Order: sequence, then C-alpha cells, then structure tokens
Amino acid sequence: MDTNTNISPLKQPINDKKLKRLVILGAGESGIGTALLAQQQGYDVFVSDSGEIKEPFKSTLQNSNIDFEEAQHTEEKILSADEVMKSPGIGEKNEVVKKIRAKGIPVISEIEFAYRYKGNSKIIAITGSNGKTTTTALTFCMCQLGGADCAMVGNIGYSFARQVAEGPKALYVIEISSFQLDDIKTFRPDVAVLTNITEDHLDRYDYKVQNYINSKFRIVENQQPGDVFIYNLDDDTTIKNITKYNIKSTLYPITMSKELPQGAYLANAKMHLKWKGEEMQMSINDFKLKGKHNQYNSMAASLASTAVDIRKEKIREALQTFESLEHRMETVATIKGVEFINDSKATNVNSTWFALESIEEKPIILILGGVDKGNDYSSMKEMVTEKVKAIVCMGINNQKLHEEFGGLVESIVDTTSAVEAVQAAFHFATKGDVVLLSPACASFDLFKNYEDRGNQFKQAVKNL
Ligand code: ADP
Repeated sequence: MDTNTNISPLKQPINDKKLKRLVILGAGESGIGTALLAQQQGYDVFVSDSGEIKEPFKSTLQNSNIDFEEAQHTEEKILSADEVMKSPGIGEKNEVVKKIRAKGIPVISEIEFAYRYKGNSKIIAITGSNGKTTTTALTFCMCQLGGADCAMVGNIGYSFARQVAEGPKALYVIEISSFQLDDIKTFRPDVAVLTNITEDHLDRYDYKVQNYINSKFRIVENQQPGDVFIYNLDDDTTIKNITKYNIKSTLYPITMSKELPQGAYLANAKMHLKWKGEEMQMSINDFKLKGKHNQYNSMAASLASTAVDIRKEKIREALQTFESLEHRMETVATIKGVEFINDSKATNVNSTWFALESIEEKPIILILGGVDKGNDYSSMKEMVTEKVKAIVCMGINNQKLHEEFGGLVESIVDTTSAVEAVQAAFHFATKGDVVLLSPACASFDLFKNYEDRGNQFKQAVKNL
C-alpha cells in the first residue's frame, strides 16, 4: 500500500437543491469535528446538546457560525433532520434518540461521516476492550518514524472528522470504541485491529455480552479480500466468535502459544513477524513497553504498520523507544522503598488482571473500585490471592468488592478519596511493596474521569 501519496479528500458540496440537514447530537470532540466537516461539505448543520457545551467547543461553533442549542433538545429542530450523527456517549435509551429511531431518520456515527470524505486515504482502525490507545499510539509512532503522511485520531486527540476537515492525510490511525462502531454503515478500514474482547460497557448493551461482541466485530463487516484483519488468537472470546461472521479480509493473528505461518507470535522471548513470505525477529527484552499485555499490543502494532509498508528498521526503532502513556502502568515515585504505579486507565477487570500479571515478585497493595459496570471478578481472584497483600477500596459503594475479595487478602478497607486511599495503602506497605492503582471500574462516582483520578492519585503520592 502506498502511504506517501497525499490525496485530498473530496471537497465539493453535495449538489442537492435543498441542503441536506444534518443534526448532530452531542457537542464534544466528535460532534464538533462532524459539524466542521459537514459545514465544509455544504450541509445544513444543527448541533444539539442536552447539557452545557464546554469550551473550546462552544467558541468553535460560534466562530464557525454553526447553529446550535445547549441544555435542551428542541424536537422540531431535531426531527426535521435528513440524517443524525449521534455522539458515542449518547445511548439508545435517550428519549430523543428513541424518537429519531421511531421516525426512521438514519443515524450514523462520527467515523462513518468522516469516512465519506476521506478520499483515497488509507485507514488503520483499532478497536478492542483493552489496549486500544496503546496500540494506536504505538502504531502511529511506527508510521510516523516510517515517514508516512499520517495522523492519529479517534479517542486520542482530534476526531477523525475534524482531521479530515482541517488536515487531511494519506493515512489515518484511528482508535475506535464499540459505541462508534454501533452506527457505521460503509466504514471499511484497510487494516482492522481487534486487540481483545472482555466484558465492558455492558450497561450500554442491555447486559448482553453478545451485543457487545457483535459491535466489536463490526470493524470487519465491510472489509474485502486484500484488506487486513489483525486479531488475538489467545483471546477466548475473539476465537469463540470469529467464525460467526462472514469475514472476507486476510487474517493476521497474533499469539504467544504457537508458531504461525502468517501473523506474529512469541517464541523463546522473541517476537516473530511473518508477512507475505518475509520474517522479522526481535527480542522482547528490547521492547521499551513492559508487561505481557504490551507484548500483544506490540505484535498488533508491528503487523498493522507492516501492512501499510512501514520498514522493519522503523518498527524496531519504535518498539525500542516508545514509552508507556500517562495513566497506564505509569511509575509515579518510590517512597521509602514503596513503588507507586498509576494504572487509572484500567476501567475493567481484564486490564487490572494484566496490570497484576505484569508485576513480578513484589507484594501488591491494590487500590480498586469506583463505578462497577457489571463486573465479573472471578477471573481476577487467583491473581489477587497470589499477589495482593491488601486491597484499598476507593469508591462510594464497595460492598461487592468486600463480598468478592474479603476472604482472599489480609486486609481490605474503604476510602472515598485519592488522598485517603494513598494514605491507607502506604500504611499497609513495607519496603519492597508496590502500591498499584488499577481500579477495574469507571471513575465517575468520585472523579471527573480516569485522568482526574490518576492525577489526584499522583498528587496524593507526591504529598506523602
Ligand atoms: P484502551 O484505550 O482500550 O482503554 P489502553 O491502551 O488505554 O486501552 O490501556 C487501558 C488499560 O488496559 C491499561 O490499564 C493497560 O494497562 C491495560 N491494557 C493495555 N493493553 C492491554 C491488553 N492488550 N490486554 C489487556 N489489558 C491491556
């Protein structure tokens, strides 16, 4: 694939006599990105947010003369739409969404809208329950080092739509959530990556895990022969489900459990990358990112970059230099021999499992809890029994954690702030221990978001 030709996306406004009316629900990054792109493409645009629109989004709308409303949804203005872009944060239970559906107005997501105007550019799309951001950032790092004209979009940085409107590229590396995939129609990535599937966001999928799985697999639904699908052979849920879908693209699995003729695998502490008859090898000790989960992410990113013709030396260089992102197994400080690690981004059980797995030999004091999205903790219990000395619950309702883990650790206590949690954890710790914030839960009972939780944790550690 040629990633070095920069072909501009289509810029002509649509030629309808009456402008097509696009209503955008939600004025966050994906809403604003869509609004800017839609305006550029000649749509009649209206943005509606049931809450107050935050800065800088509100100023962007005002400065661009885009019609909007906030703190309300005016039904006549919304139900007159030819098409609706629903932001990923808005669920199907929303009353306005129900009315839009009942009226039969087509609903799309931001990535679907942006896809229409990306021209001949290539797409690497990365989804999965865990490891999306890391794999996306690592893939982007490889592509950039390899000289591709590329941008990293989606949940990190700009929305895909804004990037297409303001800075079109020959290659987009996109991090995609299942919510974004729920409302695609034609979106077809050249390279799709599914890192893994583990229960998450079940509250948005009627507590039916199959709905969530179906949604993740939509990343391949429009792929054609010649497109690439990278997935994890060691992920039970992926493997149990992969045959249910009519996947036309070429499969490139990753695994740690066997040698493969095509794809990427680990054997004898080496990564083997096999692509169209060529092989690249690299010792996993040379990876800058540590932990088993990151070895999977590294294999996936290396294959994705190879699929867009990035050279082996550049992939190697990226793997040797790419550092862990903030709030993901981020070392904060070592105080009196106790190491503090911020893994606030671990918002589900599987990511906390990998966090525990990656810490070797040192006893762990685990800070856990927050908003439980329907968690099944059974997979974590063995790991907790083996490695965790004490649990500090940090959340408003910790009853389930006590029921699940009470008998497995020496101590379990409740706290309701990052300061209290850090102090309690430090109290349990002795020299050589690790205090790990890896909550397995969402953060919004006590914090604004996972970044706020991680930042308050780091501040509390620094104040010890
Ligand atoms: P996402 O964007 O999918 O939430 P991140 O890369 O931000 O993924 O990582 C989120 C959390 O999941 C972190 O706590 C990290 O330690 C853990 N994690 C990262 N990659 C994986 C993986 N491949 N499998 C399981 N857990 C992972």
